[in-house]
Amino acid sequence: MAYDIQPTASHFIDGAYVEDTTGTPIPVICPVSEEEIARVYAATPAIIEKALAAAKRAQVAWAKMTGTERGRVLRKAADMIRERNHDLSVLETNDTGKPLQETLVADATSAADALEYFGGIAGSLTGEHVQLGEDFVYTRREALGVCVGIGAWNYPTQIAAWKGAPALACGNAMVFKPSETTPLCALKVAEILHEAGAPAGIYNVVQGMGEVGHALITDPRVAKVSLTGSVPTGRKVYAAAAEGIRHVTMELGGKSPLVIFDDANLEDAVGGAILGNFYSSGQVCSNGTRVFVQKGIKEAFLKRLSERLAHVKMGDPLDESVNFGPLVNAKQLEIVQGFIAKGVDEGARLVCGGEREGTRGYFLQPTVFADVTDTMTIAREEIFGPVLSVLDFEDEDEVLARANETDFGLAAGVFTNDLSRAHRMVAGFEAGTCYINTYNLAPVEAPFGGSKLSGVGRENSKNAVDHYSEMKSVYVAMTPVEAPF
Ligand code: NAD
Repeated sequence: MAYDIQPTASHFIDGAYVEDTTGTPIPVICPVSEEEIARVYAATPAIIEKALAAAKRAQVAWAKMTGTERGRVLRKAADMIRERNHDLSVLETNDTGKPLQETLVADATSAADALEYFGGIAGSLTGEHVQLGEDFVYTRREALGVCVGIGAWNYPTQIAAWKGAPALACGNAMVFKPSETTPLCALKVAEILHEAGAPAGIYNVVQGMGEVGHALITDPRVAKVSLTGSVPTGRKVYAAAAEGIRHVTMELGGKSPLVIFDDANLEDAVGGAILGNFYSSGQVCSNGTRVFVQKGIKEAFLKRLSERLAHVKMGDPLDESVNFGPLVNAKQLEIVQGFIAKGVDEGARLVCGGEREGTRGYFLQPTVFADVTDTMTIAREEIFGPVLSVLDFEDEDEVLARANETDFGLAAGVFTNDLSRAHRMVAGFEAGTCYINTYNLAPVEAPFGGSKLSGVGRENSKNAVDHYSEMKSVYVAMTPVEAPF
């Protein structure tokens, strides 16, 4: 049975769907038909209070359970998500416009991976013992308490789980606010976690815009906020969290370099550039949108890229043969079209694409610019759409310096068959997530996150545990106390 697109209610709090239609209406617009397909309501102060109170209450007992018990719930939720992958993917496609071909393998399944991984390590989270002569210290790894998660619209299910899974594994409760653009799938994550045995109040979802996010993170009951969003929002959320000296994880935007040397395998390099620019119609934070191509391989690269882009199949994203969907909404389409116009105005060479496709749905052709220079707007600002910029370079030192000449630092990639050069390059990249001879993979076992303006902290991997727990040191004296008087 497929899921209804209209959720049972706007929020999921304390183990149940909750509605309050006095909140600001949030229409869910289908990116293909441009029609309203569902409607939720932003959380009112009463809803926010209910969610935080439930989380605060439930967290105490949850943290007292053993890690193995908590992990069992997460792993069960992972299995349920996999069983329901098809329906969840259809819902995600309706919400985001991303092709079902993608959502079937990259969204709910990625959420399941996170729940399975953190469910698996929950029972092995420990402190340590430090012997000090006869005395000793032991450390207790403790939960932070109530954590707030705030999501972007490009990977709604994944983001809900990437934040929820480590938070819950460590014994925290979560109040998650999805992006107002894509409010549907986080509700399913909450529903499934509850069905899998998460006690009421441990994982709550409330809807709303920035004001709701702000109200959540400034509440005294909240110990931590994890945001996935843009740098301007990151600045606001970080500042608001600082007021209460709260823990933060910031997964923000990027303008990542992808460097292709003459000696690279051409097919792999083109494939990497496609994955790093056109997956999810370019709406991926870690995209390698500044593609530096060494002069000797440039024309061959552009030729092969254009040939492979001819295989793009745009259309109804629910059709599994379609591999390129629309942008998420009208605003994003307009923003990306504005960047394309700037690229043309500032003298970049439009190799292909650049136009809106059709008049209904937010479809935009995959777009490639060549002869892009470092100072052009399209080489400096995050576009968050299907626009790839090719920049020329001659040697390694030059390209590394230019690759790092940005305030962002989310990801970076290099394609070369010279092993030493590949490792030299990644050692030099000022970025949190690097790739050699591939691009944009984000397995749950590996830390993911950014340097510089692209973020603070890491998601996924054992690293995430440190961002959702803290150590308490306990000094134990075995000898008499020696006081000066
Ligand atoms: P956004 O910054 O506009 O919004 C992100 C979230 O923050 C939304 O839920 C929004 O409601 C909320 N928000 C806005 N103002 C707030 C405030 N003052 N206080 C609290 N919450 C507030 O981002 P977006 O347009 O939804 O997503 C695109 C951006 O996200 C891009 O910059 C992209 O690079 C980034 N992103 C980063 C990652 C990553 O892991 N690094 C992943 C996906 C997306």
